[in-house]
Amino acid sequence: MMRLSLSVITSSIKSLTGEAERISQGQLDHALSKGVVDEAGRLRNAFEKMRLSLKARLDELNRLLIVSQAVAFNLEITEALQPIIESALTTGASSARIALPPDVVPENDAIGAIPSRYGVGNDADNFAYFDDQLLALMKDQEKGRVVLANPARTPLLSFGPGAPRLGSLVAVALYHERTYYGVLWAAYDQPHSFTDEEVQFITTLGSQAALATANARLFMTAEFERERLAAILASTPDPVLVTDQRDCLLLVNAEAWGALGLGIETSIGKPVDEVISQIELVDLLRLSDEAPELVEVKLPGERFFMATASTITVDGQNIGRVCVLKDVTQFKELDALKSEFVATVSHDLRSPLTLMRGYATMLEMVGELNEQQSEYVRKIVVGVESISRLVNNLLDLGRIEAGVGLQLEMLPVRDVVEWVVESFQLQAQQKKVALRADIPANMPPLIEADQALLQQALHNLVENAVKYTPEGGKVWVRVQPRQSTILFVVEDTGIGISPVDQPYLFEKFYRGTDRKAKKERGSGLGLAIVKSIIERHGGNMGLDSQLGEGSTFYIEIPLRHGT
Ligand code: ADP
Repeated sequence: MMRLSLSVITSSIKSLTGEAERISQGQLDHALSKGVVDEAGRLRNAFEKMRLSLKARLDELNRLLIVSQAVAFNLEITEALQPIIESALTTGASSARIALPPDVVPENDAIGAIPSRYGVGNDADNFAYFDDQLLALMKDQEKGRVVLANPARTPLLSFGPGAPRLGSLVAVALYHERTYYGVLWAAYDQPHSFTDEEVQFITTLGSQAALATANARLFMTAEFERERLAAILASTPDPVLVTDQRDCLLLVNAEAWGALGLGIETSIGKPVDEVISQIELVDLLRLSDEAPELVEVKLPGERFFMATASTITVDGQNIGRVCVLKDVTQFKELDALKSEFVATVSHDLRSPLTLMRGYATMLEMVGELNEQQSEYVRKIVVGVESISRLVNNLLDLGRIEAGVGLQLEMLPVRDVVEWVVESFQLQAQQKKVALRADIPANMPPLIEADQALLQQALHNLVENAVKYTPEGGKVWVRVQPRQSTILFVVEDTGIGISPVDQPYLFEKFYRGTDRKAKKERGSGLGLAIVKSIIERHGGNMGLDSQLGEGSTFYIEIPLRHGT
């Protein structure tokens, strides 16, 4: 007897041990066989309960994993929400639904309208009846949920005609970062007493749904902005190029493809210097402290563009450059036409002017003139001379701008300066203006320049200095050697130039607005000629002046042309 009952107990414990081992290895699908009602049998039942609850927990975790994967990998809202509502069904609900407020996801024409209602399960469509009520109800329940074991008895929901039968329901508000994204709710045919685990599970699903909706909204807003920017860029009539911080092309509009002759979008993401052949445009697009703001670019098809660029800065960091090109071909053509016109007219004026001057001077020779007649003749000669000066200036400017006849040679700097200063000595003495040249002994003796032009530039500056300096004043011409350039300085103690005039002085035909300056004769071309000459020599110029105290003009020219 003993042996028999012992063997029954041992075999029962043995099989229990085997089943416990199966559980411990994670095999939870196998149900434990029913035992007799003894101690071992009770143990067996306890194991079975443990197995079932463990299995339920694991299934739940698996579903949550699938849900969070769907949320993480899908920016498409429908695909992200589908596994969430399907998981909500597994709590025994007959239907599960998600309702989003109408304005939560922006409608994007490019992506299409976004559904605001999602449902699975039997009669899910009928239960849509409660969506709006629950949307309104849950809005005030941040992080909250509503569990109604017997909804018909609560005043929270109203059951009008056509309301489907509702045994019980659980609803969670979809809140993410304090924004309300809608409601997830599950409907049960029968009254249902909700376990804490079930409610917790639905709440977790709710937070995943809120995250999915927030992500989709973020993505769609970004996508919408991108589409809008692309549309703006595409409809911009001027070529636009945008680069990133690695100097690679980031955005290029259709006009720019056309103008640059690139045609293919494969250039996007490539370094600008690989894609664009115009060096000045490449320099403009590159992020650097010395990047210019404005350059003129010649593009295929004899088209000229004025390119302006600025650096894009976000939170104090430079993240790229944006460049807009303006077609100035027409203006260039007009400018060329204008210069040609001026050159032709001034050239044709020269001979009749010489003739007029000659005859006017000869009048005195062919007969006695009375005082009034002599005065008139003198006025005619002065007038003709001033037109001749203007015509000569215009012709010079035309020639210099056209780049005709730049004859470079190695010039002795001292001779050039002394020659110019000498030629004004008499005029300065008559005006009682002291004119002096300061040339240091250790000067580099030679500079590569066009003698006539360099002399003319200095001539115009000294002429102005003497002209705009009243009696008793001083004019100095100084030469200062620099590392690879020479600086010529013409300084005077004259009437000075008002700050209003200073920016425009080097423009053609600009004359000072000051009363004292207007008293002097002039065409307003002198400084424009100086500027043109200096530019042709690859130099630059500047000015310092104070009204009533004097002016200092600087011109700086490289010792060697092209350096
Ligand atoms: P302009 O024929 O009128 O002298 P410029 O181009 O040589 O033409 O000079 C332009 C204007 O600049 C002058 O009208 C004058 O107002 C001003 N200007 C030039 N040089 C001087 C100077 N040394 N002192 C004062 N004003 C000057």
